[in-house]
Amino acid sequence: MKIPLVDLTADHAALRADLDAAIAAVIDSGRFIGGPQVSGLEAEVAAVCQTGHCVGVSSGTDALLIMLMALDIGPGDEVVTTPFSFFATAGVIARLGATPVFADIEPDSFNLDPTAAASACSDRTRAVMPVHLYGRRARHPDVGDIAVIEDAAQAIGTGAVRGLAAGLSFFPTKNLGAFGDAGAVLSDDEAFAERVRLLRNHGAKPKYYHALVGGNFRLDAIQAAILRVKLGQLEAWTAARRRNAERYRALFAAANVPAELVVPSDSPEHIYNQFVVRAPRRDQLRAHLREADIATEIYYPRPFHLQECFAHLGYGQGAFPHAEAAANEVLALPVYPALSEDQQAYVVDTIAAFY
Ligand SMILES: *Cc1c(COP(=O)(O)O)cnc(C)c1O
Repeated sequence: MKIPLVDLTADHAALRADLDAAIAAVIDSGRFIGGPQVSGLEAEVAAVCQTGHCVGVSSGTDALLIMLMALDIGPGDEVVTTPFSFFATAGVIARLGATPVFADIEPDSFNLDPTAAASACSDRTRAVMPVHLYGRRARHPDVGDIAVIEDAAQAIGTGAVRGLAAGLSFFPTKNLGAFGDAGAVLSDDEAFAERVRLLRNHGAKPKYYHALVGGNFRLDAIQAAILRVKLGQLEAWTAARRRNAERYRALFAAANVPAELVVPSDSPEHIYNQFVVRAPRRDQLRAHLREADIATEIYYPRPFHLQECFAHLGYGQGAFPHAEAAANEVLALPVYPALSEDQQAYVVDTIAAFY
């Protein structure tokens, strides 16, 4: 049996006629940037996410960047975030000339520890950016007037925005994926959403008159049309991922695996973009699974504070022990919606055979 980390072909095959029709309709409309497909998607995503405003943008990375731009964050400012996430989380802070300040994660949830985040705030802190890693909602930091900007790239549908705004990614392997790059900003703050709307199109309003310096962060109509078709299945896909997570827990509980293999506990809002176990002999286990044709991935092997590009920030080995342990031990197993019970049993049997 050969099991990839993600296989979306079955999901897309079931929708193929609708996807083809949606793409053809965009071609026939001659409207490729903005327009009714984009505004339609924005209204539908806002409703699904129980949020007042949704602004479609070019990628999840750009969603994070534009939220910080809307707050006018730049040199001299600090943004507190986790050292354990996809690079974009810290990269956007540095790209604006601001300083990423890291605080350690909670060992169980892998998410930014809200108490550590609050302690890392200074009088230069302009925002705190928790990440809902793997699709599990992070606990909300209590930081008073400081803006909380959520990196919800892996976490569409985990509940309403609690901070000022949240960024979504529609990268193909996210729970709702486009056929290319796309993202969105969610916010209940109308003035903030309007600033994001301006910034995504070079700050122009009206056309060719610029109150702000923005960029081209627009969402393609063709991606919006594809996402609208797929959005109708999101609830069912999320339910399938949650069912698969539950099945893994049952299969692991029945299997003969030692306590050193830690299976994630459930949380009601977890959407399982990834199902990530901890294994102290992770690299050997991964090689063993590869031998059995089971694909896995390490999200993420090196925390931000130990990345070469952030060496100048002056953190060293040992600065964030929980993030460092996670980077050495995490392993993502296949959990995509179409994964079958037989395939999951094979994954668990293969892991049990390793020990
Ligand atoms: C995917 C992802 C991003 C970036 O999204 P893109 O659409 O790939 O630009 C940012 N943060 C996290 C946590 C992600 O998983």
